Amino acid sequence: MMKRILITGGAGFVGSHLCERLLNEGNEVVCLDNYFTGSKKNIEHLMDHHYFELVRHDVTQPYMIEVDEIYNLACPASPVHYQYNPIKTIKTSVMGAINMLGLAKRVKAKILQASTSEVYGDPSVHPQPESYWGNVNPIGLRSCYDEGKRCAETLFMDYNIQNNVDVKIIRIFNTYGPNMNPNDGRVVSNFIVQALKGEDITIFGDGTQTRSFQYVKDLVEGTIRMMNSRDGFMGPVNIGNPGEFTMIELAEKVLKLTNSKSKLIHLPLPKDDPMQRKPDITLAQKELNGWEPKVHLEEGLVKTIAYFDKLLKEA
Ligand code: NAD
Ligand code: UDP
Repeated sequence: MMKRILITGGAGFVGSHLCERLLNEGNEVVCLDNYFTGSKKNIEHLMDHHYFELVRHDVTQPYMIEVDEIYNLACPASPVHYQYNPIKTIKTSVMGAINMLGLAKRVKAKILQASTSEVYGDPSVHPQPESYWGNVNPIGLRSCYDEGKRCAETLFMDYNIQNNVDVKIIRIFNTYGPNMNPNDGRVVSNFIVQALKGEDITIFGDGTQTRSFQYVKDLVEGTIRMMNSRDGFMGPVNIGNPGEFTMIELAEKVLKLTNSKSKLIHLPLPKDDPMQRKPDITLAQKELNGWEPKVHLEEGLVKTIAYFDKLLKEA
């Protein structure tokens, strides 16, 4: 059955893939964005679609619409962007959640929150299961993002308990792929753009810190399965790829796949930068019909490199 679906942050990296997939599945999609980090370019190929609508709006302000489902993705995700205006970042997470939950309550829509592995902070439990409460600095550089997302999770659960809103929460681990902003500042886009331009590859710290990288297609699949998961299952559920790599390993893979002669250089490690991160996806496998990531890092990097290569040549 055709649903009308609101996607906040729909012009961003992940949102644009979600818009496309849900449209292709025969739904009506309303993409809401203030274009802080997103871009019309990410969704311009959808503009002519009869069932696609674009709304310029900021989620810190209430918004009214009749919809069946809401995917709440609006929020800058790269440290460079979320630290640019930290107060705005936390307002986006907290007031954005309140406004979208209020809307869901009024129109009886099901609502999914894009939370993050950052709720685990610099984790002392490895890999991270959903039952781990995390190790987050409440007053650090990353707090506007981490604590904003933690508070959004709280609001989602409380709107369920108090107002019976049908909520779903996913905790997304580092995701990469086409439509990432080349100036995004995240590690995968930085390394690829640097390698393609022959610039030095900027390793922060000694490069032994780890991340687990998920290709965007796997995330979109997990996200939609979560929206459609059994009644009463709210999560939070980890959606990530358990393949864990150091930043040095990532840089070497990017150099190899781009045939680049770029040199690795070391820059200071930002404060509060987590040392390790890897999802425990047992819960997702159990609750989301055996969902698990399918795209291996090298395969996803090849696709992402092709995207940035084309983008840089066009520029
Ligand atoms: P992104 O920055 O590409 O997309 C975020 C989108 O939200 C952009 O289009 C931006 O313009 C929009 N936006 C920001 N503030 C807004 C506001 N106040 N009102 C309306 N729109 C606003 O980031 P992304 O990687 O696509 O992330 C999407 C969501 O997934 C975010 O909520 C992010 O926290 C979460 N997430 C992403 C990752 C990842 O690795 N990509 C990891 C964990 C969580
Ligand atoms: N990083 C790096 N060089 C860069 C950008 C990031 O070495 O040019 C490191 C960063 O210090 C962190 C890891 O890569 O340890 C992942 O950073 P990103 O900003 O992509 O995501 P997050 O830290 O939010 O997981």
